[in-house]
Amino acid sequence: MKWPSSLLSLGLIAGLAAGAADAQRRSAGFPSGTIVDLSYPFDSATVYWPTAETFHLEKDFEGTTEQGYYYSAYRYSAAEHGGTHIDAPVHFAKGRNTVDEIPLEQLMGPGIVVDVTKHCDSNPDYLITESDFKDWEQRNGKIAAGTIVLLRTGFGKFYPDRKKYLGTEKRGAGAVANLHFPGLHSDAARWLSQNRNIKAIGLDTASIDYGQSKLFESHRALFASDIPAFENLANLDKLPARGFSVIALPMKIKGGSGGPLRIIAVTAKRK
Ligand SMILES: [Zn+2]
Repeated sequence: MKWPSSLLSLGLIAGLAAGAADAQRRSAGFPSGTIVDLSYPFDSATVYWPTAETFHLEKDFEGTTEQGYYYSAYRYSAAEHGGTHIDAPVHFAKGRNTVDEIPLEQLMGPGIVVDVTKHCDSNPDYLITESDFKDWEQRNGKIAAGTIVLLRTGFGKFYPDRKKYLGTEKRGAGAVANLHFPGLHSDAARWLSQNRNIKAIGLDTASIDYGQSKLFESHRALFASDIPAFENLANLDKLPARGFSVIALPMKIKGGSGGPLRIIAVTAKRK
């Protein structure tokens, strides 16, 4: 089929515009390449812990004012920990950084994806081990100091279906025992914090500890070393194993133990 020339030139213009935007970012000192949004939107379907307050958006005003111009404004409320969010170290480690105290430098850096989907497909209680990291290193080289480590369990494909994503759609304290999703083994959390000087860690489940955790040992090990965790990450399937940058900017709640997170990855430009 022959494309109409107007369509062809539209495509050309779009391509040129993208290239120009990329060049502009590069010249301004920003990373160039494809931007991947790792945040889910906040709405009534947003996944929260069974005991947490969910996201509510209320309308203050929406429509045409008496003066004849359009105006909209809303108010929202939610727990700190839900949807795509950050856990600040103080969430499980007294005296460690609150969300506003985490240095910005620690929230930006080179990222890697450790893909453990093959283990999690058959076992929703899978615990990510030191050997999963060693396997990654065998293929890609040692995890460098300052890396932001993203764990891909594959559970992102279930979001926001709470029954599949969390293991239960029930709410309340009684539902916590029914949580089933993969997480980071506490030995691996200790190994990472003691042997690899990483900036932060994140994954595509509701918690860095697996659903069946009672003592939240991975949270405690990481946070004692001031390593924050990003939870409920989107689109990890769109990232390569390495060769991208992460920028993670949470809401700056003074003294907060965590909060909503806008996180993006910028993949290295294809040659
Ligand atoms: Zn959290």
